[in-house]
Amino acid sequence: MPMSADFQRRLFPILRTIAGHFGTPFHIYDETGIRDTGQRLIQAFGGVPGFREFFAVKALPNPRILAVLRDIGFGFDCSSIPELALARQVGAASDDILFTSNNTSAAEFAAAADGGCILNLDDLSLVPKVPQMPELICFRYNPGAERTGNAIIGRPEEAKFGVSRSQIVDAYRAAQARGARRFGLHTMIVSNELNAGNLIQTAHLLLALAEVISAETGITFEFINLGGGLGIPYRLDDTPLELPALASVITGAFHRFADRNGYLPRLFLESGRYITGPHGVLVTRVINHKQTYRRFIGVDASMSALMRPGMYGAYHHITVLDKPEGGLLADVVGSLCENNDKFAIQRPLPATEEGDLLIIHDTGAHGHAMGFNYNGRLRPQELLLRADGRVERIRRAETLDDYFATLRFEPDCLIPPD
Ligand SMILES: *Cc1c(COP(=O)(O)O)cnc(C)c1O
Repeated sequence: MPMSADFQRRLFPILRTIAGHFGTPFHIYDETGIRDTGQRLIQAFGGVPGFREFFAVKALPNPRILAVLRDIGFGFDCSSIPELALARQVGAASDDILFTSNNTSAAEFAAAADGGCILNLDDLSLVPKVPQMPELICFRYNPGAERTGNAIIGRPEEAKFGVSRSQIVDAYRAAQARGARRFGLHTMIVSNELNAGNLIQTAHLLLALAEVISAETGITFEFINLGGGLGIPYRLDDTPLELPALASVITGAFHRFADRNGYLPRLFLESGRYITGPHGVLVTRVINHKQTYRRFIGVDASMSALMRPGMYGAYHHITVLDKPEGGLLADVVGSLCENNDKFAIQRPLPATEEGDLLIIHDTGAHGHAMGFNYNGRLRPQELLLRADGRVERIRRAETLDDYFATLRFEPDCLIPPD
């Protein structure tokens, strides 16, 4: 069950007009859907006082979208200096920002301190590198062999992220020794997880670990951050998460923790995909047909607009506007000189004509954001279907001038000493 029937009902009748006005290709996001999903998340976890979602900025780093999310009360999870700047640009204050970087540089620590945020440290070795230890500190935990992870994030044992089990207590002790007084605990083990049991297991794992760390150090936890990773149904036969049921089990686990320990930590999430993923589509026009050993439909977008199929073999459902579902098998391809520049491989699709509009579903997270310029391919524009029914351009397409921007600089040529 990819893009919602509501989004289709709002978008499809006006899609030709939008394509005519703005040109193709473009990603278009549905403000109403994003707001609804955000509100449903807040409601679902309402049973844990102080619950907060910190939207993972990397999923859809557009200030217009971040402003919508801030409006419904979300904070932001950032992991780079530009992401920090984006969050601050939409008015996020220090306690609205989690900084979950890894392999953190001195410049990143400086940018995090300048303006403030909640620091989420990825390693024990970073404790002495924090220029000024804040009062509130969090560590990202890596459970290692205790958990199996999944395809996007990798197996925890092999993943570069987080503090290991044997280091985690020392990490809090080291932060305490440098003056930290308030603490959070974080992990991010899975991504695009549709199995509620695996998400619940993460909550149990962190709550149990919090008890162990407390017993050894005497500290208590102000918040437990379960990370992102809530999955969305990309395929027609994927079963969506039942959010209220999932939230009620996790809420129960938090309250049992409170019964045992005499206090209730806040629950933080940093979902990206779940919030915006289904509420965006990539709209691209058919420009060529080719029939060799198989059938190819050539469109005016390339993987510079959407990397997930090429990078992970990810499935994105495709609809041809005003044509039935299904048909003969075809590959839907862009123009990059890379054979993985395909939005779909051997997909049943109806007969198409040049000029037809293809809707590639579920590009609202990790879509435009992952784009790149390899092969001189420029990233497309982003549009917003606003709650008031207007369609607003929220990022222009890249131009040749953008491509050449980094080739304009002050000449500099070092003559090394001999
Ligand atoms: C990417 C990422 C997220 C968001 O992941 P989703 O799968 O989009 O929910 C959250 N936290 C961290 C640290 C991440 O790297």
